[in-house]
Amino acid sequence: MLDLATLLREKYEPVIGLEIHAQLNTRSKIFCPCPADFGAEPNANTCPVCLGLPGALPTLNQGVPEKAAFAAFALNLRINEVSVFSRKNYFYPDLPKGYQISQYDQPFSVAGYVEIPTSERDETGRPIAWRLKRFRIQRMHIEEDAGKSLHEGMPDSANSSYVNLNRSGVPLVEIVSEPDFRSSWEAYDYVQYLRRALLYVNACDGNLEEGSLRCDANVSIRRRGSETLGTRTETKNLNSFRFIQRAIDYEIARQIRVIEEGGRIVQETRLWNEREARTYAMRGKEEAHDYRYFPEPDLPPLVMSAETIAALRAQTPELPEPRRRRFAEDYGLSLEDSTLMTTTREAADFFEACVKAAGGQARAAFNWIANELLARIPVEKLSLATSPVSPAGLAELIALIADGTLSNKLAKEVFEQMLTTGKPAKAIVQALGGGQVSDAGQIETIAAEVIAANPKQTAEYRAGKTPLFAFFVGQVMKATKGKANPQVVNEALKRLLDAP
Ligand SMILES: [Zn+2]
Repeated sequence: MLDLATLLREKYEPVIGLEIHAQLNTRSKIFCPCPADFGAEPNANTCPVCLGLPGALPTLNQGVPEKAAFAAFALNLRINEVSVFSRKNYFYPDLPKGYQISQYDQPFSVAGYVEIPTSERDETGRPIAWRLKRFRIQRMHIEEDAGKSLHEGMPDSANSSYVNLNRSGVPLVEIVSEPDFRSSWEAYDYVQYLRRALLYVNACDGNLEEGSLRCDANVSIRRRGSETLGTRTETKNLNSFRFIQRAIDYEIARQIRVIEEGGRIVQETRLWNEREARTYAMRGKEEAHDYRYFPEPDLPPLVMSAETIAALRAQTPELPEPRRRRFAEDYGLSLEDSTLMTTTREAADFFEACVKAAGGQARAAFNWIANELLARIPVEKLSLATSPVSPAGLAELIALIADGTLSNKLAKEVFEQMLTTGKPAKAIVQALGGGQVSDAGQIETIAAEVIAANPKQTAEYRAGKTPLFAFFVGQVMKATKGKANPQVVNEALKRLLDAP
């Protein structure tokens, strides 16, 4: 059997589709007033509706369609003016009603896409070559979450399982992609972007560890050049970017091995085990008809008027990828640099505020933020509210460098003090006894004194021993306690020494 890399390059093509469940960050649940937040005592956030007690009726939380609309705009989806809630029937201990309220044949939104940079990675995980690729999104519908069964880490776990219904009725959107991904890294870049976009529009808190974003990966392989899809498996509940990437790679390799050995792929649901770095078969994959979908009789259709949709669209902020492209074009940032500056909406706002305050010196603003400020604060945490140095403060520092008051070296010292004391750059420079000396007349006087005090070196220099120039620079710097602007010193000494 050929090695996997060769088989992938020459014989097989992976086809991957992703289903992502994102929790909408409303304060209360979708059909009852219970809090939707994470971390409460088990079953504290429950009521007859989300416990599924007989006779309890759901009422739609009006915050849910609004958040879902922002999520739809973030992914260029078209919102249907009428969508319908349906019952998805199945039994599970953490689903007390025996059905989940979801949407089926009339979903909230359809036909979206994202067009984003993506790249394969080398063995060390470094991107190889970025290119733009469009990934289509088939639909995004609204549904409620189920509760959670706990089989481990509880008292008497050997004999008992526990059910926590705090999650029951938490609002979700399910974002279903087209099978447009051809590698695990494309999937990785897509999920990263999707999280970023949902955070930009404040529809989801993006917290993977708390389960606010979960991914199911549908993976199949086919012969290169073939148009038909192979049999796919679905790996469920991947809750970290790395797991998504690794589980897909594992599944591609497993399927190639099965087919190369003469076997065939079974359509099934699988689970990723991170400790063993492999997927396991969990159950046969259900078809839609297994769920006996029918319209939810206790809820009216969800109606979003064209006016409401337009009004919400008008409130949608600039999205991360358009903003990244604008940063690249307007400020001359590379793909990596513009991606870094648009990591979060807050970081992007901070950068733009700084560029504006610094009179358009985007390169300087980027360098100070990327190299100095982000060395202290992770980029995810950078915001106008929390940064120890404001954009205006950074702009003042940049201006002091531009007008020659501060050398780069001195500026770094001033920046350190700005961080620790919170004082503005100008006040720190004054306390340090003034900034760099750039006054040409003042420096020329000192240079002339240095030349007069060193007649032997002057004669030698003028006779052709040019390396002595550094000696004169050193003397002037010494006389000014290192504060002279080196460029002005060079010019003054050249003028005086080279004069006939
Ligand atoms: Zn409730």
